[in-house]
Amino acid sequence: MSNVTFLSGEKIPLEMHKVRMVQKISLPPVEQRASSMEEAGYNTFLLKNRDVFLDMLSDSGVNAMSENQYAAMLQADDSYAGSETFYRLEKVLQDIFGMKYFLPAHQGRACENIIAKTLVAPGSVALMNYHFTTTKAHITLMGGAVEEIIGDEGFKIQSTAPFKGDIDIDKLNEAIKRIGKEKISFVRVEAGTNLVGGQPVSMRNIREVSHICRKEGLKLVFDASLLADNLYFIKTREAEFKDVEIINITREIASLSDIVYFSARKLGAARGGAILTSDDGLHVKMRELVPLFEGFLTYGGMSVREMEAMAVGLRETMDMDVVSQTPIFIEALCNELLAKGIPVVTPPGGLGCHIDAWKFCEHIPQTEYPSGALAAAIYIASGVRGMERGTLSEQRGEDGIEHLAEMELVRLAVPKRVFTLSQIKYVADRLTWLFAHRHLIGGLEFVEEPKVLRFFFGRLKPIGNWPEQLVRQFRKDFGESL
Ligand SMILES: *Cc1c(COP(=O)(O)O)cnc(C)c1O
Repeated sequence: MSNVTFLSGEKIPLEMHKVRMVQKISLPPVEQRASSMEEAGYNTFLLKNRDVFLDMLSDSGVNAMSENQYAAMLQADDSYAGSETFYRLEKVLQDIFGMKYFLPAHQGRACENIIAKTLVAPGSVALMNYHFTTTKAHITLMGGAVEEIIGDEGFKIQSTAPFKGDIDIDKLNEAIKRIGKEKISFVRVEAGTNLVGGQPVSMRNIREVSHICRKEGLKLVFDASLLADNLYFIKTREAEFKDVEIINITREIASLSDIVYFSARKLGAARGGAILTSDDGLHVKMRELVPLFEGFLTYGGMSVREMEAMAVGLRETMDMDVVSQTPIFIEALCNELLAKGIPVVTPPGGLGCHIDAWKFCEHIPQTEYPSGALAAAIYIASGVRGMERGTLSEQRGEDGIEHLAEMELVRLAVPKRVFTLSQIKYVADRLTWLFAHRHLIGGLEFVEEPKVLRFFFGRLKPIGNWPEQLVRQFRKDFGESL
C-alpha cells in the first residue's frame, strides 16, 4: 500500500495488488437485514455469512491469499512424519525470526496451551501488557494468574501516544519487587495489543522489557499474532527504523525474546500456529507436548497445504507494501469518521477501526449492552458485520451481577487485502447516517444467556421496537436504495 498524493493534494491509499480471484457478495435490502438480525438473536456471531455484505467481524483466517500461496499449496508433501513441507516451513521461520527451533501447533491458542503447561505453576503470575482472551484462559487453567502492566495511555480511548500497547516499565519493576521473580511464570509482550484496539508496542519498549527480563532471569514470551501491523508502526513511528528492512525489525524482536509464538490465522495469511525458541531446555520441554495435544512434530495439527501457504505468506509479509495495507485503510476509515464527529479509538491502530459505543450510544446504560446494540444497528443500517467488545463480552459474576466492561467498543476488523476503498467509504457513509440517528438505537436484553463465553452463542432481543424505527428512517432517507 502506498499513500499517494493526488493532484488535489489529497493523500489517497493506493492498493499495491490486483484482484485476480473474487467472491461474489450481496447486499440484502434493509428489511431483510432487520429480520436476519432478529433471527440471529441480535448477536452478530450468529449471522449467516450469506446475509452479510462486508464481514468485518475478525481478521482471523480471512486475510486474502496470494497467487504464490495457492500455487505452493499444490506442492504440499503429505506424510505423517518427515514431510518436505515441514522442512520448507522450518527454514523460512528460522530465516525470518533467526531462532533455532520451530514447533508446529494448529492455531494460536494451541501454542498458548503448550507454553502455559510448560511455564505456569499454580499460584504464579504472568505479567503482560494486556491479556488476550485465550491466553488468559490457558494461564488460569494451569492455576496461574495474569497481571496487566500496560501504560495508562492504553486505556485512554482518545490519545496521541504512538505506542499505546507499551508496557509501563515502572509497573514492571514494581511488580517484580512485589511478587518476587520466583513466582513470576513469564513476561509476555503482545504485538498489536488486540483488546485495547490493535495498539502497537515500540521497539524501544521491547528492548527495555527484554533488558529487565535478562537481568532478573525472567522468560520473555512474545505473542506475534498481530505482528504485521506492529511492524508497520515501528517503521513509520520510530525514527530509528525508517530505513530498516521489515525482516530486520522482525529479527531484532525475536533476538530480544525467549519464545515467539503466533496464530497463522492472522500472521502469514493462512491457518495454523507456530512456537519458536532458541532455548534448548524450553524446546525439549515444549516438544513433548506437541504430539500429545497437536499431532506429530512435523505437522502439529496443521494441514500440509496450509503450512505451504504459511511459508509463502510469511515471506510475503516481510514487505512494506503488504504490512501497510491494513493500517492505512484503518487510518482512512477512522479519519473519515472523526471528521464527522464519530468517536473512535485514536490514534488509529492495527486490526480494525474501533468505535466508542459508550459515546455513540450515550443514552443506553451499560446493563443494556450499548456495544451489542450498536453492532446490531450497524448491521441493519449497512449489512456490515462488526464485533461487540464491551460488557456483553464479559462474564456475569456468580452472584448474577454484571461485570461492566472498562471500554464499550464495536470493532470493525479490516482483514488484509480483502476490501476495496469504495467499500471502506460505504462503511463510513452508513455509519455517518447511523450516527445522525443514533437516538433511535435502543438497548438489548438476554433471551438465552450461556454461562460461559455468552457473547458467542447468547441470544438477545431489543428493548422496545427500535429496529423497526431504524428501518423506517432508512427508507425515508435512502428511498429505494439498498
Ligand atoms: C487470535 C489471537 C490469538 C489466538 O489465536 P487463534 O489462532 O485464534 O487460536 C492469540 N493472541 C492474539 C493476540 C490473537 O489476536
